[in-house]
Amino acid sequence: MQTKKWVFGFDELDAVKNQVGEDVDAVRGLLGGKGANLAEMVRIGLPVPHGFTVSTEACNAFLKSGGTFPKGMWDQVLSALQTVEAKTDKRFGSDDSPLLVSCRSGAKFSMPGMMDTVLNIGLNSQTVAAMIRLTDDPRFVYDAYRRLIQMFGSVVMGIDDEPFEAVITAARRAAGVENDTELSAEAWQQVVLHFKAVYRRHTTHDFPEDPLKQLKMATEAVFKSWNGKRAVDYRTAAGIAHDLGTAVSIVTMVFGNMGDDCATGVAMTRNGSTGENHLEGDYLTNAQGEDVVAGIRMTRDISLLKEEMPAAYTEFERIARLLENHYREMQDMEFTIEKGKLWMLQTRDGKRTAQAAVRIAVEMADGGLIDRQTAVLRIKPEQVDFFLHPQFDPKATAGGRLLARGLNVSPGAAVGQVAFDANMAESWAKNDGKSVIMARPETKPDDVHGMLAAQGILTSRGGRTSHAALVARQFGKPAVVGASTITIDLTNRLMTVGNHTIHEGEWISIDGTTGVVYEGKLETMVPDIKDPWLIKLLSWADEFRTLGVWANADYPQDARRALEYGAQGIGLCRSEHMFFETDRLPHFQRMILTDYPVERREALAALLPFQRQDFAGLFRVMQGRPVIIRLIDPPLHEFLPDLVELVSELADLKIRLKHAADMAAIDTLLAEIRQKELLRKRAQSLREANPMLGLRGVRLGIYIPELTTMQVRAIFEAACMVVKEGIDVHPEVMIPLTSHVNELIRQRSVLEAEARAVMTENGMEIAYKFGSMIELPRAALTADRIADHAEFFSFGTNDLTQTTFGISRDDAETGFLIEYMESGILPANPFATLDRDGVGELIDMAVKRGRTTKPALECGICGEHGGDPKSIALCHELGLSYVSCSPFRVPVARLAAAHAALRDKQKKST
Ligand code: ADP
Ligand code: MG
Ligand code: MG
Repeated sequence: MQTKKWVFGFDELDAVKNQVGEDVDAVRGLLGGKGANLAEMVRIGLPVPHGFTVSTEACNAFLKSGGTFPKGMWDQVLSALQTVEAKTDKRFGSDDSPLLVSCRSGAKFSMPGMMDTVLNIGLNSQTVAAMIRLTDDPRFVYDAYRRLIQMFGSVVMGIDDEPFEAVITAARRAAGVENDTELSAEAWQQVVLHFKAVYRRHTTHDFPEDPLKQLKMATEAVFKSWNGKRAVDYRTAAGIAHDLGTAVSIVTMVFGNMGDDCATGVAMTRNGSTGENHLEGDYLTNAQGEDVVAGIRMTRDISLLKEEMPAAYTEFERIARLLENHYREMQDMEFTIEKGKLWMLQTRDGKRTAQAAVRIAVEMADGGLIDRQTAVLRIKPEQVDFFLHPQFDPKATAGGRLLARGLNVSPGAAVGQVAFDANMAESWAKNDGKSVIMARPETKPDDVHGMLAAQGILTSRGGRTSHAALVARQFGKPAVVGASTITIDLTNRLMTVGNHTIHEGEWISIDGTTGVVYEGKLETMVPDIKDPWLIKLLSWADEFRTLGVWANADYPQDARRALEYGAQGIGLCRSEHMFFETDRLPHFQRMILTDYPVERREALAALLPFQRQDFAGLFRVMQGRPVIIRLIDPPLHEFLPDLVELVSELADLKIRLKHAADMAAIDTLLAEIRQKELLRKRAQSLREANPMLGLRGVRLGIYIPELTTMQVRAIFEAACMVVKEGIDVHPEVMIPLTSHVNELIRQRSVLEAEARAVMTENGMEIAYKFGSMIELPRAALTADRIADHAEFFSFGTNDLTQTTFGISRDDAETGFLIEYMESGILPANPFATLDRDGVGELIDMAVKRGRTTKPALECGICGEHGGDPKSIALCHELGLSYVSCSPFRVPVARLAAAHAALRDKQKKST
């Protein structure tokens, strides 16, 4: 039986493909990215030093066996080495023309700097002498030798750099020079002796003189570095599998440190931060590879190489262009120039910012290098998000003082003076023009004005769909929630982390992208949202997608933003948000508090003009696009002050009453007590053990029909008004929390009568739809009957997830749900990404059943999931008509929907 092939020469790509097939991914899997690309560069005729790659399979076999090379591997290495010797006309370990090699790690996915490489393998006392004879440059040879001992010592034997650095420092001092480059050959020769002593002291062995032993030990060490802590941590963070293994590439050494006609450097074909199409990079003359990244010497900009070594530069420029065209991707390359001759040592796809990624993809498509589909697929939807929020300067976060960590619920950077309540936040921002971070234990609907005025939001409690998180995302406010190590002391107006205190008014910085809270005022950068490349890319995405993208917007300014970002309709206007505003809340509370129908009607009549004006504003902005208005949804107690606070305020007032000095004071106190007492009683009577499953949604409309009737009147009066202004209007009236079709039938008859009445009063017809949210399992299960009485469905996936799992999201997201995800009981947070098997199945069923009754039934989703790329892909699969998300997620959703459509197309064509 033939033994397996573990080792492949750079010119043996055919043998590789025999083993794993033509697939680029499989080739990279076997040779690692570095090995695969070295072989590919050889194939297309680029100057790469001779060499070969030991496969990842060999690494895995080695690691599995507990540290022995698989059978036949070492023999294959030796024979590959012979081939290299023949090609280079040098011999490993020979004392007339010695071959030196590097032993380099390289995994399937690039893990920059995570694993190890040893250069100059093959040097020992004899070969050093030979090299000196050949080069006539003892300084260079001893420098190379000491590098080998240090790298080998650190990579193979785990010796710290310090004892080595100490030797060099001492040598510099003895010679009275500042830089390593000024050290003489003799000095380096001494350094080598000392390095060998360091090596022996730390390992109790002599430095191995046998080149083959060096090569073997280095190969073993590189294999083992796959499981080094650094590499494991990196893979965990980057989501790279732990069982891929690393390949080892053995490469003939070329020298950038043999004089002033030598250099070494790294360069990218395009600018990694901006995407501009020109070479970017750094180099050093008379240096070896690792010096460039190590930062010991000041590197020079690649453009200077043009003057210093014009021929080599021109050649490099040509190869860079060629490689980019070949891979159809921006390349990141390592090169070395030895006595004027250019050698390519590595190429890989370059890392880049979101901005650069978009510009590069678009320019490559415009230049015909890739097609538009590829360009669209190259950008991850999440990358689009970076364009919409200010970010911290990375330099600032690196130097920042970390205060706490929480959930990164709404991306972007925010800097401000901390304020501990909404009124303070609003007044500081509006009256004093301050930048404010509003920090609260958690937020409530009546905190919204403060949140809007603030630059960012911080809470110590609450989860990803807590009120704070939702509102923050809705308005694109950076937010960190559930930073549980922070204790906010509202009485003393301060917050503490451990024994560290921040007083109200002090500066803090929060990073909603990472969930980190910093002390002080960090520098931010505002990325350009008018980015022309992004606009172009998204317009291509629009041509590919079939799913509509709508937005959740309660106010005209949100709608305007949504439109600007490309929304095609409003999928959710939460009509009750408007009741929380200061000029409306008293009327609404009066409506709740009264026992008299007349007074209730009066209160509602007072609210009508407000709602009409709000809806008219939305209709005007949306210019005939669909606008779905959801009738009142939350339980009424949310509109009243907190019961516990009321009780303590009452106790306070009663004490003050006891000590009141005069009649006038007593009178005001009594009136206040009466009012508070009324609020307390009502709040008490509205108290429910489980308000989220209580009197809310359609149940409210059935309980207080005048309330929803008023809302419908407002919608249709607004519609008539705006149509009269010559603007097309398409309202869709949505009933929340339906569980039984009878609820819908009952509400619909009342509401349609009102709609009809308004249209008759105005003498006009408005084309409208009447529909239901599907956010309870029962509604999904009976969707065929519900569809008899609805023209559209909108899946409220927040509640649907909550009621399907029987998990209260706000409690769970900071508690056991986290553990569920960490321990793998749940693969992902179902409140962030739609649960395909459960909630997805219910949606699928509801869409199908609904459409058997009404084939043209419009189906969309308006939960938080509407802005999540994975959930959007599922919505595409389930045949929904649109997703609706916060305006700030609209661009992300447009791209995600295009990805879903393109992947679908690819799947069907294969
Ligand atoms: P990393 O993956 O950390 O970049 P590399 O294996 O690419 O590690 O090597 C580290 C440095 O050594 C790079 O600058 C590389 O260009 C250089 N290098 C590697 N092999 C050789 C060689 N055979 N000749 C000259 N320089 C080399
Ligand atoms: Mg490299
Ligand atoms: Mg709901």
